[in-house]
Amino acid sequence: MTPLNTTATLPAAHRKRILVTGGAGFLGSHLCETLLGAGHDVLCVDNFYTGSKTNLLHLLDNPYFELLRHDVTFPLYVEADEIYNLACPASPVHYQVDPVQTTKTSVHGAINMLGLAKRLRAPILQASTSEVYGDPAVHPQTEDYWGHANPIGPRACYDEGKRCAETLFFDYHRQHGLGIKVARIFNTYGPRMHPNDGRVVSNFIVQALQGQPITLYGDGEQTRSFCFVDDLIAGLVALMHTAPEITGPVNLGNPVEFTIRELAELVIELTGSRSRLEFAPLPTDDPRQRQPDITRAREHLGWEPRVDLREGLARTITYFESLLSG
Ligand code: NAD
Ligand code: UDP
Repeated sequence: MTPLNTTATLPAAHRKRILVTGGAGFLGSHLCETLLGAGHDVLCVDNFYTGSKTNLLHLLDNPYFELLRHDVTFPLYVEADEIYNLACPASPVHYQVDPVQTTKTSVHGAINMLGLAKRLRAPILQASTSEVYGDPAVHPQTEDYWGHANPIGPRACYDEGKRCAETLFFDYHRQHGLGIKVARIFNTYGPRMHPNDGRVVSNFIVQALQGQPITLYGDGEQTRSFCFVDDLIAGLVALMHTAPEITGPVNLGNPVEFTIRELAELVIELTGSRSRLEFAPLPTDDPRQRQPDITRAREHLGWEPRVDLREGLARTITYFESLLSG
């Protein structure tokens, strides 16, 4: 990856104090880096449930970066001009370990961060998810589709937690006039994904690099649309900075759809691996297809992804090669 200048400064009048919850995670660490690179003052709040200080080591010496260990299910009293609320485990394996905590993080976390934003009169962005569409009956998914989520299945702690968080965001907006931004993020991948977090891209790359079988769940014909992390972060920042009336929800993702089998074959090709495919049962409520309609993001944010899967995977493979050899 091109190293970002993370020590840039802005004149004090333009420098914002930006709170990033979940900033020690995969997406959050890239967001902190980007905001620092743009010259802002960043406060990262994280309880290290799935994130890690290792993701932030390169930022710790920056005087405009602060790291606070805190669980967002408890109230937080800090000062900030903008808030990005990313705190929540995102991988099915992790969010299902302690489903009650997952719901609390989404719902109590949203209430606490919205309360903070209300006191500060600060705009707040929610990292929502394509999971609000559940196993979608509409394809590709547009933002006005209400979804098809199982409210009592093993994915519900995440799906319904995120749906309730969206409800809270829109109620704070209607009831208190709060400036909100809701991004529905589709599968995103890239450097700093956790090697053991169970998500498909990290699983396949690690398996291919280690010569282990590539674990295809179900028949591998289910689809996902994979967005490279740099594109996604650019979308989040663009959404925060659009006109206040653009609240979202806005789909952010790469609209090019692949079957999981195609992903496996591409990973094998790009790594030159001799791993074979191994089939395993499809997890309960695993969505059959997923593809964002990004018309709204194109029109409202002037945003679309630039990095295709082949290039993004190559950059991610380079990261995992160095991680696994270190
Ligand atoms: P991640 O697990 O790497 O990061 C989540 C971060 O939140 C971690 O650092 C974790 O320690 C922290 N966290 C969890 N519970 C917390 C709590 N109670 N208090 C404080 N911190 C807490 O996941 P990610 O992929 O970086 O996802 C970030 C956000 O984006 C999540 O809200 C996720 O739902 C959303 N999202 C991600 C994707 C994706 O493909 N990566 C897709 C859709 C939505
Ligand atoms: N998957 C797979 N093998 C793995 C991990 C995941 O076939 O080792 C499948 C999973 O069943 C799903 C897709 O890949 O159909 C994406 O899974 P992931 O956990 O990355 O994200 P999801 O989109 O399901 O939240």
